[in-house]
Amino acid sequence: MHILLMGPPGAGKGTQAANIVKKFAIPHISTGDMFRAAIKEGTELGKKAKACIDAGNLVPDEITVGIVRERLAQDDCKKGFILDGFPRTVEQADALSKILAELGIDLKSVINITVPSADLVERAVGRRICKSCGATYHVKFSPSKAEGKCDECGGELYQRADDTEETMKNRLSVYEAQTKPLIEYYQKAGLYVEIDGRQAIDKVFADVVETLK
Ligand code: ADP
Ligand code: ADP
Ligand code: ZN
Repeated sequence: MHILLMGPPGAGKGTQAANIVKKFAIPHISTGDMFRAAIKEGTELGKKAKACIDAGNLVPDEITVGIVRERLAQDDCKKGFILDGFPRTVEQADALSKILAELGIDLKSVINITVPSADLVERAVGRRICKSCGATYHVKFSPSKAEGKCDECGGELYQRADDTEETMKNRLSVYEAQTKPLIEYYQKAGLYVEIDGRQAIDKVFADVVETLK
C-alpha cells in the first residue's frame, strides 16, 4: 500500500502517519524528519537544508528529490510506504512519478488533510516532539500526561525551531504558492482524497482508514 499524505504545515500529517504505521506496518518517509536528522548529525545535507528550513522556505527540489529517490529504492518500500510532506512542488511530483514508474510502484491514494490557515499557526506553535522517539504532542490539543515528558518512552519534549508564529507565516504562503497546485495535479490523476483535518485526531484517522479500504 503506497500512500501520499499531503496538507499544509501543522495539518496533522505526522500525527496521522504515526497511526498509519501502527496499523499497517509500512515505513513512514517524512522529508522533514530526514532533514532534521541530517541537521542533528551535522551532515552535508543537513548544512544545505538548515537555512531553508529555519526561514520556512523549501529545500531546493534537486536536493529533496535526491534523498527521496535513494530512500524509495530501499527494499522495505516494496510492500508500501506512507510518504509525508513530499512532494511539495509540481517539479517534485513529476520527479516522483518517474521514480515510481522506474520502481514499478502504483500509488494507492493521495490523501490531503485540510485545515483552515487560521488554525494552523496555533497547531504549529503548540507542537511538541519527543527527542527520543519522535512522538508528536500539542500543549492544548494533545498534551502529554506529564508536562515536557513523552508518554510512550519518557523522553524529553522539544519545540521545533521553525514552529514560531513568524516562520509559520512564511511556511503558509510557501504552501499556498508552491504546494497547493498539487491538489489539481492529483485530482487530474484520479488519486485525490480530501479529509477534514479540523476533526479530532481519532476521527481524522477513522476517515483515513475508511479511504484506504
Ligand atoms: P504536520 O506533520 O502536518 O505538520 P502534525 O501531525 O505534527 O502536523 O500536527 C501539528 C500539531 O497539531 C501537533 O502538535 C499535533 O499534536 C496537533 N494535531 C494534529 N492533528 C490534530 C487534530 N486533528 N486536532 C488538533 N490538533 C492536532
Ligand atoms: P510541516 O509539514 O509541519 O511543515 P515538515 O517536517 O514536513 O513540516 O517540513 C519542515 C521543513 O522541511 C519545511 O518547511 C521545508 O523547509 C523542509 N521540507 C520538508 N519537506 C520538503 C519538501 N518535500 N521539499 C522541500 N522542502 C521540504
Ligand atoms: Zn518518546
